[in-house]
Amino acid sequence: MSQPYISIVIPVHNEQEVLEILYQRLTTVMDQLGKPYEVILTNDGSTDNSTAILNDFVKRRPNEFRIIHFNRNYGQHMAIMAGFENVRGEIIITMDADLQNPPEEIPRLVAEMEKGHDVVNTHRMDRQDNRWRLLVSHAHNWLRKKMIPSLKMEDEGSMLRAYRRNLVDLMVASGESSTFITALALTYAANPAEIGIKHEERAAGTSSYSFYKLIRYNFDLITNFSLVPLQMFTFIGISVSILSLLFVIYLLIRRLVIGPEVAGLFTLFAIAFFIMGLIIMGVGILGEYIGRIYLETLKRPRFVIREIRQQQEG
Ligand code: UDP
Ligand code: MG
Repeated sequence: MSQPYISIVIPVHNEQEVLEILYQRLTTVMDQLGKPYEVILTNDGSTDNSTAILNDFVKRRPNEFRIIHFNRNYGQHMAIMAGFENVRGEIIITMDADLQNPPEEIPRLVAEMEKGHDVVNTHRMDRQDNRWRLLVSHAHNWLRKKMIPSLKMEDEGSMLRAYRRNLVDLMVASGESSTFITALALTYAANPAEIGIKHEERAAGTSSYSFYKLIRYNFDLITNFSLVPLQMFTFIGISVSILSLLFVIYLLIRRLVIGPEVAGLFTLFAIAFFIMGLIIMGVGILGEYIGRIYLETLKRPRFVIREIRQQQEG
């Protein structure tokens, strides 16, 4: 098998409707580019017909296609990570399977990499997602910029990106089980570039992300790259303590000057509930971090590969 120059890594979770179009458009673009390439698709615990369709790609294109089958669903980022563990190319491209990232943009990414960058970040121009997705995304981006100011990128959810091999090896070596690839890459990058790319509507099928899954995913990003939520609670704690102290002093003086206070019961309730709410939220945030620390200390494998389908050597 000849050494590929470009490796394309694609996570797949229940994408039976789009895989054939993906295959056609991707191979057309890559054949035209004329550089040796491989395509690694990670089947992230699909329960539809994706498994069979993917295996068929290896039969049709044994020189280019390799399929990694997980034993169950581990999420998009772990699926990409498994692809990273197995790449052989020098330039690694990640993209979504649903064709929201047009394969026709790949040559531009490669050209940008060849200018000497070790990462090419992207932002989606004219994003084609439904309204509530855009809303969640805008809110999240705003929060993310506040929480992780060091993360200099427009759009961390844009998955069509290019990485130099040494960066991919570093990401694999980091061994984390809940991470966010696009942000992780930037912590190792020396010379990143950023370009705008086209974004399309999902070719077919439905998004794997529910609202709940999206929230979990964003917590992964924040907890992995920022301690701001924890530190914020220290400050809130200090401020609330100071205010309460002032309040107590005021009540004391008031009692000495005017006499004991009887009314104001509901104000007291309101203040108490507000502070209790803060405490519960603080405990929740602590839990987000501790839960992840716990998972890392278990040292379980990040994912289990059931099988790798590829051309038999020799
Ligand atoms: N994906 C995956 N595992 C998951 C969820 C999604 O491998 O648990 C893949 C999915 O097949 C697609 C990419 O990740 O290739 C992005 O997912 P999707 O299009 O559902 O997300 P959206 O575009 O709605 O953010
Ligand atoms: Mg999508």
